[in-house]
Amino acid sequence: DLEIAVKVVIVGNGAVGKSSMIQRYCKGIFTKDYKKTIGVDFLEKQLNINEDDVRLMLWDTAGQEEFDSLTKSYYRGAQACVLVFSTTDRDSFEAVEKWKSKIEEEVGPNIPIALVQNKIDLLDNAVVEQNEAEGLAKRLKLRFYRTSVKEDLNVEEVFKYLALKHIEK
Ligand code: GDP
Ligand code: MG
Repeated sequence: DLEIAVKVVIVGNGAVGKSSMIQRYCKGIFTKDYKKTIGVDFLEKQLNINEDDVRLMLWDTAGQEEFDSLTKSYYRGAQACVLVFSTTDRDSFEAVEKWKSKIEEEVGPNIPIALVQNKIDLLDNAVVEQNEAEGLAKRLKLRFYRTSVKEDLNVEEVFKYLALKHIEK
């Protein structure tokens, strides 16, 4: 068996749910007023894919998602990326393409990226149409997921996809 470690970076505008997603996936918790960074560079999650042990290291942005303020060390060696926007934040959706360019510029063009629309529990307050989001994903050629970190919907699928993508390379 192999033991494979994968550095995964989570990017996207502030308040879309990045830190919550990492907490949810690695610790199984969701707190409504979770604001602070996780205090360490990353949290880990172990999973098993086709007999291989994969250790995902999920890096949080430490609240510095002002564009361009993420440090080089945040991106360095990244092997997969989750690009998150929020159902209830139009700006975060409009920033997706910029984030994609940024990550590809920092890491290289072949990094697997999953595009994630979070907070789908708030669909009643949606400011992004379903077909717009799907259209963007298609145009940018990104695998697209809708998640609710709050209700634990689809979060595991995102990371499973990236782990699989990594192994297939
Ligand atoms: P970050 O700045 O991208 O790291 O965002 P946070 O993880 O700090 O989350 C910002 C706020 O959105 C917090 O109040 C979270 O509790 C909330 N939040 C995160 N995910 C969800 C979700 O799926 N649904 C709802 N309703 N709130 C969420
Ligand atoms: Mg955060």
